[in-house]
Amino acid sequence: MTETTCCIVGAGPAGVLLAWLLARQGIDVTLLERHDDFHRDFRGDTLHPGALELLDRVGLAERVLEIPHSRMQKLVFHTQREAVTVADLSRLRTRFPFVALLPQARFLELLATDARRFPGFRLVMGADARQLIWDGDRVSGVRYVDADRDTHEVRCPLVVATDGRWSRLRREAGLPAIVAAAQIDLLWFRLPRHEGQTGGGYFAPGGYMIVLERQAEWQIGFVIAKGTFNERREAGIAALREQVGRLAPGLARSADRLADWDQVRLLSVHADRLRRWYRPGLLCLGDAAHVMSPVGGVGINYALLDAWAAADVLARPLQSGHVTPRDLRAVQRRRQWPTRIVQTLQALDQRLLIEPALRTRRGNYRLPFWFRWPLRWPVLRDLPARLFAFGLGKR
Ligand SMILES: Cc1cc2nc3c(=O)[nH]c(=O)nc-3n(C[C@H](O)[C@H](O)[C@H](O)COP(=O)(O)OP(=O)(O)OC[C@H]3O[C@@H](n4cnc5c(N)ncnc54)[C@H](O)[C@@H]3O)c2cc1C
Repeated sequence: MTETTCCIVGAGPAGVLLAWLLARQGIDVTLLERHDDFHRDFRGDTLHPGALELLDRVGLAERVLEIPHSRMQKLVFHTQREAVTVADLSRLRTRFPFVALLPQARFLELLATDARRFPGFRLVMGADARQLIWDGDRVSGVRYVDADRDTHEVRCPLVVATDGRWSRLRREAGLPAIVAAAQIDLLWFRLPRHEGQTGGGYFAPGGYMIVLERQAEWQIGFVIAKGTFNERREAGIAALREQVGRLAPGLARSADRLADWDQVRLLSVHADRLRRWYRPGLLCLGDAAHVMSPVGGVGINYALLDAWAAADVLARPLQSGHVTPRDLRAVQRRRQWPTRIVQTLQALDQRLLIEPALRTRRGNYRLPFWFRWPLRWPVLRDLPARLFAFGLGKR
């Protein structure tokens, strides 16, 4: 058994940043991560201007941007007839007018390595948190199993669950969630990148996909109607290849490299949010508190913003060794409405732009007038860019 002040379970963006921020303020932190390393293909690689500004405030942005990365300044939606700039970040007033696309594993490694210079920081890799430890109705620690299957206990005044979209701790705590119906799933694969090709969102009758630059490759998020993956598989990989080429004719040459279903992973899209993010002694953050749909690619940003807010609110109570439910409620209050609004916008985007494209069978797919029209007006056109770049809420 070990004792600490704050035990954080899950070393994704929310957990690692929170651990770094608390340890920097002299707080004893134990960070548990189930895997032995940070290398996960199956998550996003985006850092938005809002997140970069936060990292800049604590002197990390420049070092993060030393990691080889690509920069996206414009988000452009392509249809067969037109290319519509949805967000032009170069017009925003910020030191970082771009989304940095960098390997998330390298970002997490950098923060975790840097945190080791703070004496209170302890990272345990290969530590699978299995159970909350209760003291009456208060959480007082976590039981985890290490790589040798030995069981350990960490006792502390506060456990933070940042264990992602399938959070075991949230389930253990019995925190009820409001689930948003998702009508789409995502096929996730990489293609080689060639000169003259462009990324962005590609719409055509029957389909939509997002194409993101990942240095020498494209990361593709190809949207399908929920529950139709088996049908797709039966239709064969050649059919998927042909659809990629139809959606983005410029990428047809790259799509030729799609030869096997082993190259393709299915992401079951899911979105929800907890009604209450905490119990006495326990706080959920990031995807553990609100699973983000991949629409708009803002999940990492929101996880980092949650960590920032939690460190801001909880550092003092943690230093005093006493965290009350009121402190935890203050974190939820600060972060819940930005999350709620962005989840609503993601759902609208999905329902009003993506699903109609999937349902359209022939002819041309056009982005709706109400969507294109405001983007022509200087006063309105920067609103989506602002929202995409910084999210909502106190920064
Ligand atoms: C395919 C895909 C693509 C995405 N693309 C993007 C994108 O482009 N941009 C974007 O912003 N967002 C994207 N997202 C969403 C984004 O990945 C999440 O919103 C974000 O990672 C949430 O961060 P987090 O720290 O809350 O949780 P996670 O990043 O999920 O981290 C949770 C961590 O907890 C660990 N863990 C889980 N259970 C335990 C346990 N019992 N004990 C110990 N450790 C545990 C996990 O191993 C993991 O490291 C994508 C998601 C997916 C699935």
